[in-house]
Amino acid sequence: MSGNEHKYINEAFETNWIAPLGPNVNAFEKELATYAGTAGAAATSSGTAAIHLALELFGVGHGDIVFCSSLTFVASANPILYVGAEPVFIDSEEETWNMSPVALACAFEDAQARRKLPKAVIVVNLYGQSAKMDELMEICERYEIPIIEDAAESLGSLYKGKKSGSFGHFGIYSFNGNKIITTSGGGILVSNDLEALARSRFLATQARDAAKHYQHSTVGYNYRMSNILAGVGRAQLEVLDERVQARRDVFDRYVQALGDIKGVHFMPELEGTYSNRWLTALTLDPEVIKVTPYDLIDLLEEENIEARPVWKPLHMQPLFEGCKFYPHGKGDVVSKRLFAEGLCLPSGSNMTVEEQERVIEVLRKHLLASNSLKSDEAVHEVYGKQ
Ligand SMILES: *Cc1c(COP(=O)(O)O)cnc(C)c1O
Repeated sequence: MSGNEHKYINEAFETNWIAPLGPNVNAFEKELATYAGTAGAAATSSGTAAIHLALELFGVGHGDIVFCSSLTFVASANPILYVGAEPVFIDSEEETWNMSPVALACAFEDAQARRKLPKAVIVVNLYGQSAKMDELMEICERYEIPIIEDAAESLGSLYKGKKSGSFGHFGIYSFNGNKIITTSGGGILVSNDLEALARSRFLATQARDAAKHYQHSTVGYNYRMSNILAGVGRAQLEVLDERVQARRDVFDRYVQALGDIKGVHFMPELEGTYSNRWLTALTLDPEVIKVTPYDLIDLLEEENIEARPVWKPLHMQPLFEGCKFYPHGKGDVVSKRLFAEGLCLPSGSNMTVEEQERVIEVLRKHLLASNSLKSDEAVHEVYGKQ
């Protein structure tokens, strides 16, 4: 927490606005939209709910197809199943780890040939890194298919000077407990389409028709953010840029300390983009480093340090068995390789330098011990001291 949360929460208590509506919700939506650079925003109970609403707003339903990044958290695609549509997964490319324009173009060509285009494309910005939006948008515009930008992990990141999450027809952010800023649980839908946002608020409050009595003619949801949690969000938004800087500092310290080890490759930052570095992610080249990400996770665990694998691609999940998937190249499944070789390090913005040094020490020890090439300095370290 940042310190100002109590102020906004107390305001909610003092004015007795303990409801999924109220002045904090309205203010949070305005402030977040200003930050993101969109015309408006609609706060929701989760990021997943915001994706679900976006699909509803595009009228996606039974029998429809939705394209979605494969290398992501399951929440990106679960709403496709909620509305009864069929997900088609698109591989990553190397430079951003995000949706491959090559694979997307293939998927569209195939869909065109089958005379069944998708209703929407869900583009994810992984670990804070923005996808190649220019290329992806150009392809989607050619087929006149709208983009939902899943920016749950990239709040505060930039793509060519504009905020990540502001490129799609809809963008979504998450304020779940693990995200860069949090309301303990929550999300938001952002867009320049104010009419659609108004409709999303209607759908998110049980779709109650304009009548004196309780009248309903559409299925609705209970998806609004509470006025108390929006107060937490307002205070968190004030420190977002500091949090981004802190996470980038964490990333830079890892690169400084481990970047010289052969076979260690940190997640790239595409030229013209600025990542919030939500998580420091890297890959270990199995040709050079014998220890696998899973071994390292266990070795770190022994020291009471938690690390995680990279998201398991959705096209490899039992839940999505049988779903179509378009690889980046023939026999070149980038998302699968990133999953096999990838590791996410402890990256919290409140991690102290001392804590991080402890993580680095353990990592360096095990990486060098299993490295067949080793860094020059490491060779010196190992042999020079004898
Ligand atoms: C966290 C996350 C979500 C879902 O957000 P919730 O607020 O937890 O529902 C969606 N997509 C991605 C990529 C996420 O990391």
